[in-house]
Amino acid sequence: MTTEAHDPTRGDDGPPNFIRDMVEERLRQRPDAPVLTRFPPEPNGYLHIGHAKSIALNFGLAALAPQGGCNLRFDDTNPTTEDTEYVESIQRDVQWLGYQWSGPVRYASDYFEQLYQWALQLIREGKAYVDSQSLEELREGRGNFHAEGRPSPYRDRSVEENLDLFQRMRAGEFEDGQHVLRARIDMSSKDVKLRDPLMYRIRRAHHHRTGDAWPIYPMYDWAHGQSDAIEGITHSICTLEFQNHRPLYDWFLDAIGVAEPRPHQTEFARLNLTYTVLSKRKLQRLVRESHVDGWDDPRMPTIAGLRRRGVPAAAIRAFCERIGVARRDGNVDVSLLEHHIREELNASTRRVMGVLRPLKVTLENLPDDFQVTIDAPYHPEDPSFGARPLPLSREIYIERDDFMEDPPKKFFRLAPGQEVRLRYAALIRCVGVVKDASGEVTELRCTWDPETFKKNPPDGRKVKGTIHWVDAKAAVDAHVNLYDRLFVAEDPNAADDFLSTLNPRSVERLRGCKLEPSLAQLLPGHSVQLERLGYFCADLDSAPGAVRLNRTITLKDAWAKIAARQT
Ligand code: ATP
Ligand code: MG
Repeated sequence: MTTEAHDPTRGDDGPPNFIRDMVEERLRQRPDAPVLTRFPPEPNGYLHIGHAKSIALNFGLAALAPQGGCNLRFDDTNPTTEDTEYVESIQRDVQWLGYQWSGPVRYASDYFEQLYQWALQLIREGKAYVDSQSLEELREGRGNFHAEGRPSPYRDRSVEENLDLFQRMRAGEFEDGQHVLRARIDMSSKDVKLRDPLMYRIRRAHHHRTGDAWPIYPMYDWAHGQSDAIEGITHSICTLEFQNHRPLYDWFLDAIGVAEPRPHQTEFARLNLTYTVLSKRKLQRLVRESHVDGWDDPRMPTIAGLRRRGVPAAAIRAFCERIGVARRDGNVDVSLLEHHIREELNASTRRVMGVLRPLKVTLENLPDDFQVTIDAPYHPEDPSFGARPLPLSREIYIERDDFMEDPPKKFFRLAPGQEVRLRYAALIRCVGVVKDASGEVTELRCTWDPETFKKNPPDGRKVKGTIHWVDAKAAVDAHVNLYDRLFVAEDPNAADDFLSTLNPRSVERLRGCKLEPSLAQLLPGHSVQLERLGYFCADLDSAPGAVRLNRTITLKDAWAKIAARQT
């Protein structure tokens, strides 16, 4: 686990970001240098926190230049795995993160005709040919790192024959797999990627945008760099696994005659997070096999899942800034993300009270019709949050955990004979315990000390504990989901089967929780801190009348401890 990349004790320079340094240096030399980047997702899944790193980087670079911009381009060259649901969710998520792309949404499929024309050009110049071997033969002929490639028997087809076959491929005259178009580069190159890579394959599949117009589809490698060139992208930022594609991308640009200035590729290390999987294939499986309740399940590391969990976009942006950008692969500790979530929510949320596992308390020395309304601040340190009226009457609920019949020594909450303070109210003392037939505690009988209402006991006695509570009559019923990490393994990807490391207790669904009345109006997506319990967010699907809360995160900050140890 690497932590030095995001050491919170670093100076003002902030975390390293070598790509930003490079662009800033360029702008120092030429302040009007164009900086046009793009975020190029494949619409075959939802965006996740790893994509957020790429989004923050690309949009961040564009923001450095006065005339900078960042395009959103769907790399939609694979019709069988793509779907408009993903196209829509990706746009929603980028905007929710706080970014706006330049101009219209773009699609690689908008460039299919241009790519086709360029392919014809390459054929005419003898730089591409139609191969009619089977896929098996193609793979075998390409060789590998140890074995040289073998030229295809079709490699020396005439230009006329190649043009004829390719045009008929485009016209839909052939079946899937009958022919492919290959670049004619070098079958004996040390670089396997340069051994006559595929440019087109026949795929008689319906495309979510072009419909049935195209029976052939460009390979990603052929579409990607050319799409950047068409859009005038200056900085093609991608993750390290594309480093060995760079010579091929440059070969294509040379071959079609794109001169400088043209896109230049820079690679960076993708984000890996502990206790998390970020491969779309694995996330797909979680959804498809119902290990979670969909792409936006609050346990998912997707942007939609994080949003539903109540994670503020600002926390994701701050996290992306903090982890920096480097070329070295590493695992980022998920507690760093959690730290930023707490920082954001700590600054922005009201403090209110709710009881997750209610235990009824009768304040038996109060009259049946007793009622006070307490003016309680929403934030104990920041008056700008305002206050709300908190009703209190003879019956209240407290947290079951805040009572122990036979407590250990330092249990400063409620126990028979023991006193505790009710938040914003008075001291109560437990004078009786009511149990059901099975011996379970069903109610506490307590006395209320009016002398201590909002003030210290006049006799100077010390009471250490303060607990949260909710008035029984005024309480709002709620369903509350408590989430934990989805995986128990620090690196689920290291397991033979990542699913074997799923946390069987990643969600606890509580019913019959009791919230203070001010929460009846909590709007979907809005967050509060329930005192002592954590930060919670009203579920996006909350129907009117029923309050449903998701716990975003508990209050305890593991990262603060890690950081303290390092200093
Ligand atoms: P996966 O490998 O999980 O299928 P992907 O890289 O194929 O993801 P794309 O839709 O192609 O997903 O990603 C769009 C952009 O986001 C790419 O530029 C890619 O490099 C970047 N990206 C994807 N995953 C990460 C990550 N974990 N960290 C940083 N950038 C990422
Ligand atoms: Mg990809």
